[in-house]
Amino acid sequence: MPFEHSGEIDASTHDSLYRIRHSLAHVLAQAVLEIREGATLGFGPPISDGFYYDFVLPEPITEADFPELERQMRRILKKGQRFYHEELPKDEALARIDEMGEPYKREYAEELCEKNGIDALSFYRNGPFVDMCEGPHVDTTKEIPRDAFKLRSVAGAYWRGDSRNTMMTRIYAWAFEDKTALDAHVEAYELALERDHKKLGRELDIYTIDNEIGRGLPLWLPNGTVIRDELEKLACELEFIDGYQRVATPHIAKQDLFYRTGHLPYYADDMYPPMELVEETEHGETVKEAYVLRPMNCPHHHKIFASSLRSYRELPLRLAEYGHVYRFEDSGAVGGLLRVRGMCMNDAHIYCTEDQIADEFRNVIALYDRAYSILGLKDYSLRLSCWDPEDPQGKNKYVDEPEAWEASQAILRKILDELDLDYVEAKGEAAFYGPKIDVQFPTVTGREESVSTVQLDFAIPKRLDLKYIGPDGEEHVPYCIHRAPFSTHERFVAFLIEHFGGAFPTWLAPIQVRVLTVSEQFDAYAQQIVNELRSDFVRAELGSMSDTVSKKIREGTMRKIPNLLIVGEREVETNEVTLRRYGVRAQTTLPFATFKEKLRENIDSRALEFVL
Ligand SMILES: [Zn+2]
Ligand SMILES: [Zn+2]
Repeated sequence: MPFEHSGEIDASTHDSLYRIRHSLAHVLAQAVLEIREGATLGFGPPISDGFYYDFVLPEPITEADFPELERQMRRILKKGQRFYHEELPKDEALARIDEMGEPYKREYAEELCEKNGIDALSFYRNGPFVDMCEGPHVDTTKEIPRDAFKLRSVAGAYWRGDSRNTMMTRIYAWAFEDKTALDAHVEAYELALERDHKKLGRELDIYTIDNEIGRGLPLWLPNGTVIRDELEKLACELEFIDGYQRVATPHIAKQDLFYRTGHLPYYADDMYPPMELVEETEHGETVKEAYVLRPMNCPHHHKIFASSLRSYRELPLRLAEYGHVYRFEDSGAVGGLLRVRGMCMNDAHIYCTEDQIADEFRNVIALYDRAYSILGLKDYSLRLSCWDPEDPQGKNKYVDEPEAWEASQAILRKILDELDLDYVEAKGEAAFYGPKIDVQFPTVTGREESVSTVQLDFAIPKRLDLKYIGPDGEEHVPYCIHRAPFSTHERFVAFLIEHFGGAFPTWLAPIQVRVLTVSEQFDAYAQQIVNELRSDFVRAELGSMSDTVSKKIREGTMRKIPNLLIVGEREVETNEVTLRRYGVRAQTTLPFATFKEKLRENIDSRALEFVL
């Protein structure tokens, strides 16, 4: 049983990297004690990309101390200190910890002995440093590469994660098997920081979160709203071509509906608590009813399906809506646009017969492919998410219809095979009402993220008593396909911010053109250009008046505006503009009329690049 480590990674994976990270934590502690005599120790476990150690310090350590600390650590590594293991009976062990002067270790050791009935404790010594710890370690510090670790940051952390306890100083470090792996990791980390949607979302004025509105409820600023509108417009067009019909539905519904669909009671933790309403009927009776904020749009669409007697001739019926839903994410998890409590989903539900499932799925997958290629998202992969018949919790997690599960999974497998698409199967990842195909994207930092899904639902239409009259004149239950290629605005815009690093293609960019003048005397011409572009529905604006042109260019570049137009004397005389594209060094001067025409073409074709 690991007793020193606070569980970030599985201590049973005692591979060599684990030993290196673990041993480096001891080396860091030794170095800290050298530069901060009298420091006391908390925990110092390995983590997924290195390790950390917690200290109570007589005098603070900041990142400015890192070079000195790292030098000290390298010196220790060079010495080739051997790790000695020692196991002491409880009393001797506690006396040893007292001798070490480590009150936090003492508290933890006592607790271990009392709660877990341990009667001996394990210690490791390397050089002058002794730590209560279960290991494992390298044999000597010589085995640890001296150029494959790097101190990362300092943070405050409460002893044992409890805010009633002492605040300690946590020093984080990266550590890898060699320098190449370390460099690659640091580079990916820095790229992720730079492209982080929370950072860029703030810098580019895309969204904000206000405490008086509530956690996880982003407010979309004008720039972010442009991106949403453009995505929504694209989705509407693609869906229109594929025969979808738009609907609009309210954000709330009676709680009972969600009991009928089977979302409640299982989904209760993920929903805002119900609103209890007391109303008087026309007969003067008092009725109590509970309403909920909907966590999904499906039941509302199902009710539209049920609003008239349907014939097989109306199928497939494809109902689409960018619909708002609310999910009560755990407060610890809420943050940025990726973990929110209110979101707007690129939703649609396709009602069809069993014979139509394959065609509809093929069309949906083709629509996903068109949508993603417009955005330049190529390297996605598919995952067929199935139920897990062996899951002991299965009865609560999945509709209990084994045959329907196998049959619908077989349909999806066959479609994927026929389309010759690569996919992996994942057991236990299905929705509770049916299997799904998840679309997985690699992120800029190499993580894989499930961005959207297509689901085949064989269960809920039956529960809600949906039916259509078949060619045989009998009632039949339709299948339902749930799909959302652009996921939610929140999730998808976060993904796109990171994908484009905030530098959106012109058609998607909040500001498409900013016009800058070399001096104030050309402002009238610049304003005329802005007006002409705006009357052609181009999001154009005038750059600030008073700055120097180089400052204006810098500012426009920081805002990642795709097209900066610079106008001066020559441009005014010849009716030209000088174009400076984001990320392109060379400027091009061309007639304004030509620019306007090419720009229109570029926007209309939703091109990723602007080729003149
Ligand atoms: Zn250790
Ligand atoms: Zn749905």
